[in-house]
Amino acid sequence: MLATHRRVLGTTTHAILKALQCRIDVASRTFILPSNKVPANFIPLHLTQHGPSLAYRAFSSSPGLLERQKAGQASQPVLSSEPHSSVLEDGTALVRAPTTVDDELDKVVGKMMRNHLQRTPHPPAKDYVTLSFYQFRPIAEADLVKIQYYFLTDLRAIDVVGRIYVSAEGINAQISCPKDRVDSFKSYYEKNWPIFDKIRFNPAMSEGKAFKKLHVRIKGQLVADGISNDTFDLYNEPTYLTPEEWHKELSSLSKPPVLIDMRNHYESSIGHFENAIRPDVTTFKENVDAMFDICEGKEDQDIYMYCTGGIRCTRSGALLKSKGFKSVKMLQGGVTAYGRFIQDQKAAAEKAAAEAAEAEEVKSIYKGKNFTFDKRLGEPITDEVLAKCHICGTDCDTYCNCKNTACNLLMIACPACQETHSGTCGSGSCVEMVKELQEKQKYIDETYPHLVGMKARPGVKPLHNYRLRVRPEVIMEQRKNKETSRL
Ligand SMILES: [Zn+2]
Ligand SMILES: [Zn+2]
Repeated sequence: MLATHRRVLGTTTHAILKALQCRIDVASRTFILPSNKVPANFIPLHLTQHGPSLAYRAFSSSPGLLERQKAGQASQPVLSSEPHSSVLEDGTALVRAPTTVDDELDKVVGKMMRNHLQRTPHPPAKDYVTLSFYQFRPIAEADLVKIQYYFLTDLRAIDVVGRIYVSAEGINAQISCPKDRVDSFKSYYEKNWPIFDKIRFNPAMSEGKAFKKLHVRIKGQLVADGISNDTFDLYNEPTYLTPEEWHKELSSLSKPPVLIDMRNHYESSIGHFENAIRPDVTTFKENVDAMFDICEGKEDQDIYMYCTGGIRCTRSGALLKSKGFKSVKMLQGGVTAYGRFIQDQKAAAEKAAAEAAEAEEVKSIYKGKNFTFDKRLGEPITDEVLAKCHICGTDCDTYCNCKNTACNLLMIACPACQETHSGTCGSGSCVEMVKELQEKQKYIDETYPHLVGMKARPGVKPLHNYRLRVRPEVIMEQRKNKETSRL
């Protein structure tokens, strides 16, 4: 039985399960372990019909559970020091989330459960909307694993995908939620997570599923600047301007403001606000240093700042205010919210034009694209193209990763260059690797027609999802130099 799940579970997990003599009943979504093999942090709550074995149900996604939770018949995921535990109507037990990660085995089993949750096929929802949200608030270290566990099980039950980071300083999330379940997602949040009471859901400009899977990760810092929270007041937040207030205020200033783009160079190069100071940096830590340099001696002036969704400004604004800056203003919801504001204004203007009514035209003071940290790698706010293809230099602002996943360079490549270099960064070895893969794929498709969808993969795995800290300009320059020195 276990063997049939090797593909679903992955080889490592499969080996662990085998070592534990674990059985998985996929139909009832239950792990069944012999009682003497139970890892210490999974506490049996109920003996099941499986005889001497104990069942560990790692899912709260059984049909109707949400309804039962609503009616008060099943357990609510609540954050408390008490263990999360309950017995379901059908007699199986809800597994208690791991509370300690001291033991190596515990860690592995926790991972195994998460892997299984992520990989078990689930009926796909059709239409998705993407939301981002964050909140700084202290969380006890011991609760982080529980929060991770509840988010994975509960959100998976309503087919939410995306990336959620939890840390001792709060939460930061970008998720895609099925359109018809946005309300239940929001009410789930309100009901079960009173600790995140100041969250604002910030919808993206375009609809669609921006992520493939749900990841919930425990992090040290939500946005890493290396500055200890003990050295400043994180809750001394800057003044939030709504996109409308931001637009009005910045449009009406008589002289250019101190306006700082708190994003990295690859984000601000494809789109930014007019008159913004854009530090040439690759990390948030560098940007915070740059911000202090820019603001030096301007304690009594208005400082304006913006980022993609707001979290970076909430933090860096608090850093400035703690240093005695009097007026720090940030764009609430970031460029994403501003983009939506412009979108709404355009729609309203079009509607007014269709009805031959008068409408005031709102001209975007942001030019170009908003870089997004999902597979879209950006959404346009205006049609202006501010960047150039890293390979040939023509006007282009479409980011992509080198198709050779071992290289994975994040770069701007125009359609012509993508075509010529087979979707790679153009390096000889990358082109070769991709061609080799295409041939392998062809061989698989022709030789094993029953393995539909099986993908040929390169032997080397990338170290990072995006090579965000590598500058394509530098790589292209080095390559050029190499070529000329060879001539
Ligand atoms: Zn090009
Ligand atoms: Zn490459």
